[in-house]
Amino acid sequence: MRLADPTNTSVKSADYVLVGGGLQSGLMALAIRHHRPEAKIVILERESKLAGNHTWSFHASDIPASCHAWAGSLIESRWPGYQIIVGGRTRQVDMPYVTCSSEHFATVITEGLREGDCQVLTDTTATDITANSVRLADGTRLTATTVIDNRGPSRLEIASFSGGFQKFWGFEIELSNDWPFENPIVMDDRVDQTDGFRFVYTLPMERRRVLVEDTRFSNTPTIDRDECFKQVTDYLKARDCGDYRIVREESGVLPMPTTGFMPGNPLPHLAGGYRGGWFHAATGYSFPLAIQLAELVAITPVDKLSEAMQQLKLQNTGRARFARFLNRLLFELVKPHTRYQIFRRFYRVLDEPAIARFYGHRFTWSDAFRIVVGVPPGGLRPWNFLRSFMKSKSKPANYPSAVSKRVPA
Ligand SMILES: Cc1cc2nc3c(=O)[nH]c(=O)nc-3n(C[C@H](O)[C@H](O)[C@H](O)COP(=O)(O)OP(=O)(O)OC[C@H]3O[C@@H](n4cnc5c(N)ncnc54)[C@H](O)[C@@H]3O)c2cc1C
Repeated sequence: MRLADPTNTSVKSADYVLVGGGLQSGLMALAIRHHRPEAKIVILERESKLAGNHTWSFHASDIPASCHAWAGSLIESRWPGYQIIVGGRTRQVDMPYVTCSSEHFATVITEGLREGDCQVLTDTTATDITANSVRLADGTRLTATTVIDNRGPSRLEIASFSGGFQKFWGFEIELSNDWPFENPIVMDDRVDQTDGFRFVYTLPMERRRVLVEDTRFSNTPTIDRDECFKQVTDYLKARDCGDYRIVREESGVLPMPTTGFMPGNPLPHLAGGYRGGWFHAATGYSFPLAIQLAELVAITPVDKLSEAMQQLKLQNTGRARFARFLNRLLFELVKPHTRYQIFRRFYRVLDEPAIARFYGHRFTWSDAFRIVVGVPPGGLRPWNFLRSFMKSKSKPANYPSAVSKRVPA
């Protein structure tokens, strides 16, 4: 792999040009390298490094068995399970939970593309994308048998769709005392509830290093770092953590749409990841769909790819519709102070395999039925509930976007 000058003539054509050097392109590149080692791949990234600045968390089962050979090394940390504390109930989820940081992701991609005819062009901005070509900011034109637009969320549309937001600000902290918990606590709502349903998320990276995140399911996309920091410091204080030092910060505002045509938003060219709407509407997460799409791209003959992506989209349409309905329930039908009841019910009625299926966008209608049927959240009328389900049918709309911001230590 070379970090090349984009005007270098050797990059002017390729089998695959993947636009954007984030999660989706990285997964696609690894999958293509595995299944078609002879393919020439070019990744274009506008920033000076790959993969942005994230901590991607997911269930280990989100990596399908068929993808282990090429995606297994992405797992950087693993825990046997995690806890959920919501609405006065504690639930232990006994299911392997894993993470991958941007740094680790970038290293695996760089190593994976070292051999073979692959190039990663950083500091390279694509300005114009068609099905078989990409124009760069400096005027260079690249051609490829397959161009896939994986440029991630578009910030411009953040304010223009209907729905809510999952927003969070995380602080990776070095402690002077040991962190008292061995496993992640994915949700602990014993905190101040201003601005929607709010909880703290903790990920113990090492005995004395922990990622602590203030998270909200809110109707607005704005997030204030100092407010989140206060929540986090109050949480640490209550756990008697001694002195601490912030070593890294990350934040995100993920869209939770109630309408919109996704996954597989219609663009005139192939699009993956957030740009193509390949994310879970009710969690804002994209890893499970991104890995499925990466495998599909790698094993499908290029002339059949558009059709195959359309097929995958159809397989996921019903689930996307249900996820949008859940968002409607969460952000429009129940009052913010009763939102926690939906999460409490979710973790009360679903067993581990069903939780994994839900997060992995593989849930069944029977899972969906169990999530919503039963005692409705306080004040919700059955008729409103049904009418809302009918309204969550897809309709062409602005596709949503997310923003992310990381502050270096
Ligand atoms: C802080 C944060 C944490 C998250 N955590 C999780 C998680 O734990 N689990 C999960 O499943 N999801 C998570 N998500 C949601 C989602 O998975 C991520 O946003 C994911 O990175 C989206 O992948 P992507 O490839 O679509 O976009 P990105 O990973 O954002 O990649 C897009 C890339 O394209 C580049 N780019 C944009 N425009 C151009 C251009 N014109 N030319 C060249 N390059 C360009 C960008 O610089 C970027 O590197 C998180 C999101 C955020 C913001």
